[in-house]
Amino acid sequence: MGIGPSDLPSAGLDRGVLERAGDELVETLRALIRIPSINPVPADAPDGETIAARWIAGALAEAGLEPEVLELVPGRGSVFGRLRGDGTGGDPLLLLSHLDVVPAPAEPWSHGPFDGDLDDGYIWGRGAVDMKNLLAMELTVVRMLAAEARAAGRDPASDPIPGLTRDILFASTADEEAGGLNGIGWIVDERPELVRAAAAINESGAVATTFGGRRFYPIGVAEKGYAVYRLTVHGVWGHGSMPRDDNAVIRAAAAIGRLAVQGGPRPTGVMRAFLDGVADHVEEAPARLLRALASEDPRLGEAALDAICEPVPARVIRALLRDTVSPTIVHGGVKYNVIPGEATIELDCRVLPGTSEADMRETIVGRLGDLAAHVDIDLVIHAPPVAAPVDSELYAVLARSVVDHDPAGIPLPFMVPFATDAKHMAVLGVPTYGFSPLQLAPDEPFMERFHGVDERVGVDALHWGLPVLYDVVRRFCG
Ligand SMILES: [Zn+2]
Repeated sequence: MGIGPSDLPSAGLDRGVLERAGDELVETLRALIRIPSINPVPADAPDGETIAARWIAGALAEAGLEPEVLELVPGRGSVFGRLRGDGTGGDPLLLLSHLDVVPAPAEPWSHGPFDGDLDDGYIWGRGAVDMKNLLAMELTVVRMLAAEARAAGRDPASDPIPGLTRDILFASTADEEAGGLNGIGWIVDERPELVRAAAAINESGAVATTFGGRRFYPIGVAEKGYAVYRLTVHGVWGHGSMPRDDNAVIRAAAAIGRLAVQGGPRPTGVMRAFLDGVADHVEEAPARLLRALASEDPRLGEAALDAICEPVPARVIRALLRDTVSPTIVHGGVKYNVIPGEATIELDCRVLPGTSEADMRETIVGRLGDLAAHVDIDLVIHAPPVAAPVDSELYAVLARSVVDHDPAGIPLPFMVPFATDAKHMAVLGVPTYGFSPLQLAPDEPFMERFHGVDERVGVDALHWGLPVLYDVVRRFCG
């Protein structure tokens, strides 16, 4: 990729303006963490998402915009706003985020999960990583642009922002953590004009990851699909005093054992480009390992996977190189002395591009082997993988903006193993990029903070990311 000489718009920003915006970003994130917008919605706090949506709408209104809060279900609000360009640059850019967070686990946190504490250089709390950080960053960029319009004597609610050729859409929606049907899914169906764009920026990407002494920024361009199945295992009811092999839970246990043996690796285009891209920048021994992971030969790939000693990257890479099957829920039995004639197993399957739902089902039947005759397989929910082009104008802007702010940084396209609201944007044909720019120290275990205890994000990392995102927006829309 040709990285031209830096002509940073943010370099043109007054240092004081950037500092103040960075401080505003920190306070915005803390305020958002203090609103427990938990999903699944707790009975004692039923309207967290709407409170968060209204808080953001207040900030947008204060900046001079005319935001809209919409609810499909009472208490489950989403918020939308628009900045105008002069219309000469093409379709809008969407800044997308989700308002909801997962519940905080009961284990002790060193800072309350909904206190938004600022301590030891970090902002602590549920959502600091997933994903109120990028939400706050997107909101801050929108406020900065609105302030520039006001300073130029324009009304940000109706006039074009100085220098913008495209509109910028802001959308922060409910319910992502449960599939988005009460948030972005509903909006895509009922109010697509609020989110229809040339491209979107969303969570999961551009977080600095150090490997082999080099700093990489994996930009999210693809995510795996999923298929959830409910397996009903049949057996024969009987008296617990007389054991029998056709006991449904014995069959279910055997089935789980077979299903849990994962298949061989299959590197897809994005993953091959990523692994080869990392290999190009590291020493010979790790480079050889990475090229083996990217290889078409499953035996080479499997051996390379076994050679990765670090458990977290090994788990991520393993998941990204194959279709995966995770048994997650098991039910069986009615009474201690009754041999059950039926048991159910739920399977969370994540599929690579190129694997259809029918392929996945065939894999399950194959793994069950002779047990398949005793098992009914029902599909619960399914969404195909999604991908955004790497050879696009926005991807080039994302990569270049990272390098301008970290000349030693190496941006690379990446796939994530999980699903985000990008799945819903794909219905509208909007390519969605995972880009939540954060510069981290080499030893930060960022991945483990998603949904974890003591979720937190560094203040310096946020201050670094803000002008990166600002530049992306200015460049793509300028
Ligand atoms: Zn998220």
